[in-house]
Amino acid sequence: MFTDTHCHLNRLNLEKYNGELTGAIDAMKEANVTRAMAIMCDFAEYDTIYDIVQSYSSDSLTLGMSVGIHPCEDLDVLKSATVERLVDMAAADHVWAIGETGLDYYWSEENKKEQQASLARHIHASQTLKKPLVIHTREAKYDTIDILKAEKAEHGIIHCFTEDWETAKQALDLGFYISFSGIVSFKSAQSLREAALQVPLDRLLIETDSPYLAPVPKRGKPNEPAYVPYVASCLAELLNKSQEEIGQLTAKNFENLLAQYV
Ligand SMILES: [Zn+2]
Repeated sequence: MFTDTHCHLNRLNLEKYNGELTGAIDAMKEANVTRAMAIMCDFAEYDTIYDIVQSYSSDSLTLGMSVGIHPCEDLDVLKSATVERLVDMAAADHVWAIGETGLDYYWSEENKKEQQASLARHIHASQTLKKPLVIHTREAKYDTIDILKAEKAEHGIIHCFTEDWETAKQALDLGFYISFSGIVSFKSAQSLREAALQVPLDRLLIETDSPYLAPVPKRGKPNEPAYVPYVASCLAELLNKSQEEIGQLTAKNFENLLAQYV
């Protein structure tokens, strides 16, 4: 029933599963995580992620992937993400979205111009294919919103949302969905929880961003998609709903997002 809208399935720490991805996949099934989107950050990852999606999709687990270049990638990788290449790679049905793209001035301040150009190209690929964007933004909220507006992006996810309500509101006005990760469960994230309270229930998504950012009570441990119900629990408490209700409504929202252009 739970959908993890953002996980890096090819990067999981599999120590506790003796190095076998099957262990993490079985844990997902046990936790009732029935769908997940595996996120690509670099062209070099495509084949590995594609193999995972093909090998582990089953009746009880629907897997898809994204195609895109993370803003923190090297300059030459960012430049190689042409619209043509993205469209070509992302056309197939197992590719659900374009990203993760976006802007990150925290880790990669010096690449600003190239990040912005790359984000614009990802938006164009998304428009050509009518597939949603997966947007990463860090220390760059104004430029991110400006570029989404200027390029007329209207369809996608602000992933691992950590910004203020004003930014959420602007993204929502453009038609975007807001995805919360384990960060929303961190003690220090009070203002983020306040923003989450205002997001309309039909635009809310949940994700792990695994292997990063494990939610409470697993904080500090390697994260995995099987932990996405903990993110649901945190939002459930906040919104006065059951964990199951949050699982169901966020799964439905993701379905709506994918179907929006069809
Ligand atoms: Zn990510």
